[in-house]
Amino acid sequence: KAKNEGRCRYAFFDAAMEQAFSAATELEQALGNAVGNEEFVLHYQPEIDLRSGTVIGVEALIRWMKPDGELIYPGRFLPLAEETGLIVPMTVWSLREACRQAAQWKCDGMPLRVAVNLSGVLFRQHDVYQLVTDAIAETGLDPAFLELELTETALIENPEVASPQLTALQQMGVSITIDDFGTGYASLNYLTKLPIRRLKIDSAFIREIDSSSGSRTIIKAILALGENLGIKVIAEGIEREDQLRWLEDQNCQEAQGFYFGRPVSPERLRAAIDCGALVLPAPTPALPDAA
Ligand code: C2E
Ligand code: MG
Ligand code: MG
Ligand code: MG
Repeated sequence: KAKNEGRCRYAFFDAAMEQAFSAATELEQALGNAVGNEEFVLHYQPEIDLRSGTVIGVEALIRWMKPDGELIYPGRFLPLAEETGLIVPMTVWSLREACRQAAQWKCDGMPLRVAVNLSGVLFRQHDVYQLVTDAIAETGLDPAFLELELTETALIENPEVASPQLTALQQMGVSITIDDFGTGYASLNYLTKLPIRRLKIDSAFIREIDSSSGSRTIIKAILALGENLGIKVIAEGIEREDQLRWLEDQNCQEAQGFYFGRPVSPERLRAAIDCGALVLPAPTPALPDAA
């Protein structure tokens, strides 16, 4: 009897595995098609300068738009894209699309810096410098309007590959942000060795502002670190006014989160700016001709 039960359970386990496996290959196939057919869209979330209340830039966030209109969030397909290598053509697409959009906005009198997330696995086998400079060249975007977001892990994994590439990009005018700061490796050494423009405090700390003195202490330490190293700091994941007030009391100068605006299509971003819900900085006055 025990033997039968065992076999039964084993057979069941086997079937479940097979089902999981075929679901994974189905997703992989669908994702491969999606890359081929460019079934992706970028949504843009505003980043706010807290002193002026103006939009200093936007973060581009990828979504998979199924032909039936269903929108799939990156948490559900990025891990597979990274495993299968589909992340490479996907990144080529997202870099080019974000640069094209930012160049278009600039033409339309809406100059906005765009931040693109780059997966750390790209540095294992690919020339990130080439991927980025190709997108810039193809779209004609002023590199000063492009920012790249990398996680600590991405940088620490391959410092000898990442460092010269990022330095070359920074020299062109591209800026580099460390995303999800505070959750990766604890080594802070790289902050002084790499051309880092901005630290983005992970939303996990922001979420706990009202409940964890540990998180409050870490946020204060990151703000002090940025100030002392001359690196800007932005807080992400702000959903409520009390979180914003506390961050302002700590002299945090930049913020992003649903409180200010969710990631939206380029059309909706444009509409939010046109109706004044989001405000662009006043244009810097042109310098008078030195006659
Ligand atoms: P991330 O770069 O840390 O992006 C922030 C995520 O938090 C986004 O999720 C955003 O929609 C969400 N978020 C923003 N404000 C709030 C808030 O106030 N509350 C809450 N609860 N969430 C907020 P999303 O769009 O699902 O992206 C998840 C992650 O996927 C991103 O995390 C990024 O690591 C990655 N990702 C997104 N687009 C791309 C891309 O084009 N390429 C690569 N390699 N990764 C991407
Ligand atoms: Mg990001
Ligand atoms: Mg983040
Ligand atoms: Mg993240």
